[in-house]
Amino acid sequence: MMKDVLSAPYDLGDRNVRLSASFGFAVYPFAGEEFEELLKSAETALYRSKRRGRGQITVYSREIAQEMKRATQLEQALRNAIINDAVETHFQPIVRLRDGMPVGFEALARWRDPDLGFVSPAAFVPVAEERGFIDALSETLLRKAAEAALSWPRELFLSFNLSSAQLMDPGTTDTILSNLARVGLDPHRLELEITETAVMTSADTAQRIITDLRGAGVRISLDDFGTGQSSLGRLRDFTFDKVKIDRAFVSRITSDRASEHIIRAIIAMCQGLDLDVVAEGIEERAEAETLKMLGCGMGQGYYYGKPVDSAATLRYLQEQYREAPAIERSRTSRVG
Ligand code: C2E
Ligand code: MG
Ligand code: MG
Repeated sequence: MMKDVLSAPYDLGDRNVRLSASFGFAVYPFAGEEFEELLKSAETALYRSKRRGRGQITVYSREIAQEMKRATQLEQALRNAIINDAVETHFQPIVRLRDGMPVGFEALARWRDPDLGFVSPAAFVPVAEERGFIDALSETLLRKAAEAALSWPRELFLSFNLSSAQLMDPGTTDTILSNLARVGLDPHRLELEITETAVMTSADTAQRIITDLRGAGVRISLDDFGTGQSSLGRLRDFTFDKVKIDRAFVSRITSDRASEHIIRAIIAMCQGLDLDVVAEGIEERAEAETLKMLGCGMGQGYYYGKPVDSAATLRYLQEQYREAPAIERSRTSRVG
């Protein structure tokens, strides 16, 4: 078969190389009656193969066709929502575990379509990426989030998720900084959450963007740590300020020794590298206690607060600051 032929080792003088190939098939007439359409289907199948890893084979199927149709519906609805300013951001507190006081908020995109209902960002962010309008989406979201952050106490930071496509686009730095300037939010109050996979796929461009943004005072935090395809060696090449331990480890910390050991190791590594640590997805008091005991500095999760809109965020802040004794308040102002 073709794939085996291609992947056989080749002799290039003193070196021996192996190629790998991904395949996408489209069968006439199901996948298209016209040549153009057929080719597009084959490309879709090929794209799927590449996403699944090296040397995969995908045939354009009824399932893929359905998915494409859904994605197109989603794309149209989302484009309209952006134009009509209907995509919102909610905010979830990130707290200092020692006393549970907020140190910042993560902005999370929220969208309710009249026909499709509530659509998760985990579903619509990838569509915006694939169909090439993540920039427009992200710009609206950042502007809204930054505006909301203006009414929080100055020592609180805004943490904003950057999509992997944005880390491949050299224009990202300017877009972000000019939006901050327009809104009037100090870059020192912004943190950008990026994932390991995003950093690895376009290393040079990503490196440039990270360096430039950090130069402007923006901090970078590594989201979903422990689940991506990172090599610790490569991670050393990048400069981060913070690591967010993925919920997958946190949710099992009280029941599973292995997860506890992994978290322990991540915390030790971060201490050595002088990085801040946030544990994501804390839902139970017991999890919070264990994390505190392990020396984890910050946490985030339903136990401390669910993502809520900007008005509810202000009410939450009022409550927190009212309850906190004065001494805590002065300590808070030193964080961030
Ligand atoms: P993420 O950045 O890792 O965000 C954390 C997700 O975990 C959020 O899901 C949050 O609502 C959820 N979460 C927080 N605490 C808990 C908990 O205690 N238990 C459980 N079960 N879940 C918790 P959400 O809002 O659905 O967002 C999903 C993903 O979508 C995010 O993962 C992020 O990758 C992406 N996303 C969200 N907003 C944006 C955005 O504005 N821009 C970009 N590029 N991506 C976004
Ligand atoms: Mg995040
Ligand atoms: Mg995360």
